[in-house]
Amino acid sequence: MEHVRLLIIGSGPAGYTAAIYACRAGLQPVLYEGLQPGGQLTQTTRIDNFPGFPSGVEGFDLMDSMRQQAEQFGCQMRPAACVRSDLSQAPYHLWFDDETELTATSIIIATGASARYLGLESERRYLGSGVSACATCDGFFYRGKVVAVVGGGDTACEEASYLAGLASKVYLIVRKPYLRASRAMQERISGNPKIEVLFEHNTEELVGEGHVQSVRLVRRRGEADESHYSLPLDGFFLAIGHTPNSGVFSPWVKTDAEGYILTEGSGPLTSVPGVFAAGDVADPHYRQAVVAAGSGAKAAIEAERYLAALPG
Ligand code: NDP
Repeated sequence: MEHVRLLIIGSGPAGYTAAIYACRAGLQPVLYEGLQPGGQLTQTTRIDNFPGFPSGVEGFDLMDSMRQQAEQFGCQMRPAACVRSDLSQAPYHLWFDDETELTATSIIIATGASARYLGLESERRYLGSGVSACATCDGFFYRGKVVAVVGGGDTACEEASYLAGLASKVYLIVRKPYLRASRAMQERISGNPKIEVLFEHNTEELVGEGHVQSVRLVRRRGEADESHYSLPLDGFFLAIGHTPNSGVFSPWVKTDAEGYILTEGSGPLTSVPGVFAAGDVADPHYRQAVVAAGSGAKAAIEAERYLAALPG
């Protein structure tokens, strides 16, 4: 069976940055790109907050550049996803969806997190045309427009507050009669005249020609009190949480209750020696490309130290 010294799993900013650093350290890593090569950023449009691009950069182009940079330094890329792992003892054993398997001395898990969606057919249809799960990425396009944010947690409040700095009006669609967000976050939105909270509301459908133009909502206050109506808007933002893509590894590495991989301090060390985590799979708080890239660099540096310290 094939054996690799350093395996990188995931192809977002964390995975590619880890690959660039590991290649330059002479570790000859193998990187599995997974189901969505380039990760979440390939789903967004222009990115204006990644340093080094004063005129902004398309998400796809940014990831393609990172990939090329890693390849240029000799990283071997493979187009498969990891479907099973046995990290009970080194060398670690991994299986992939192209029917291959291998063992690895060290692993960097950079499988990211996936934004949760409501699961509506119309939501899929307008993805990138009025539907987004990232206000920081796409809010800019809604300057002076009307938008809605779905969710009642800290992210939803933070995104509503961010969008209120750009949009003319922000509706916060909350399914319960109260917000789950922290008191500080609630205070941040309660005084904002642009934000209107719609409690006990659920989304039924998004409507528009080529781009979202309105949302069909239902307001439920008990079984007897139910009303359906349409709200005209230009943008619809999901903020109902993220799911870390850690399921394949969670039988072995310690995670929090949500499945985010736990690491030591702000570094990449997991509970399994030689197994490191970088990017959103271990980050419930920041979820920014530049932060993920930084954590990928840290993981590669730690992997190099780990491998250098092994006997033989
Ligand atoms: P949360 O899980 O805290 O909140 C998700 C929200 O989405 C809840 O209000 C939930 O409703 C709602 N929701 C879930 N599914 C649906 C659905 N199908 N339809 C409608 N609404 C739905 O996720 P967050 O991303 O907000 O936060 C994750 C973690 O990150 C938290 O620990 C949070 O504190 C932290 N965070 C901290 C920030 C800060 O301090 N600056 C900023 C952002 C996040 P319900 O309440 O009914 O379950």
